[in-house]
Amino acid sequence: MLIDYHTHHERCGHAVGKLEQYVQRGIELGLGQLGLSDHMPLIHVDPATYYPEMAMPMDELPRYVEEVLALKDKYAGQIDIKLGLEGDYIEGYEQQIEAIIQAYPWDYVIGSVHFLGEWDITDFRQTAGWEGRNPLDVYRTYYDAIGRAAQTGFYDIVGHFDVIKRFGFAPLPEEANEKEAMEEAALLQIANSGIAMELNASGLTKPCAEMFPSESLLKRAITLGIPLTLGSDAHDPAKLSENLDRAREQLHSLGVREVATFNRRSRDMIPLID
Ligand SMILES: [Zn+2]
Ligand SMILES: [Zn+2]
Repeated sequence: MLIDYHTHHERCGHAVGKLEQYVQRGIELGLGQLGLSDHMPLIHVDPATYYPEMAMPMDELPRYVEEVLALKDKYAGQIDIKLGLEGDYIEGYEQQIEAIIQAYPWDYVIGSVHFLGEWDITDFRQTAGWEGRNPLDVYRTYYDAIGRAAQTGFYDIVGHFDVIKRFGFAPLPEEANEKEAMEEAALLQIANSGIAMELNASGLTKPCAEMFPSESLLKRAITLGIPLTLGSDAHDPAKLSENLDRAREQLHSLGVREVATFNRRSRDMIPLID
């Protein structure tokens, strides 16, 4: 069964396409399961004064959920629609995050670190944030946050594990040992938490030109027994499941035979290829 567990749509302001267009494209592609997982509304910065087009406004969240649940019913028997959320992990805002997660019947919540304080490290408009910072320190802050996110119990899937590499900023080659120790510590925290991780193919079309996570980190995740799922992170229905064929091939070549799926936050491993 083909699955795609990471998608966005026009409500967030920086994606295009209505939810139903993703569903119809998913049916065309022959997906068995489609996870709709839009960004959590901003909670730690004022949406009125922050960069525009980051996420849906808070008052849209119930409408998003309603619309996904209606599509789930409408297309039952054709495609299994999952109600998901890409929930930011933001240190110090755990109570607010937990309240959002508990308020709706999510099938799964992706835990992603986009924000280090008010800096969104995944936003192409904010790459100046690297100026004057030591990349190794940025990486440390990032992987500490990933490790903490995994331990919160809020999330089912870690999103784009090494997205910090997205724009090509990286520690110096001679700092590789320190960088790898940070990645390893975060992977161990994920493994200990028992949650899954996605193989997110969208990195292939970003400046870093490789999936999230990289093959070496993916191998380590597999060795640690971290369950894996698949996501395209599509922000356009035309890009739904883009490069997921490559992602599946990579998993298969590394010996992975099952992927994680979710129903009301309970995990079910299904065959990668059947
Ligand atoms: Zn997005
Ligand atoms: Zn993300």
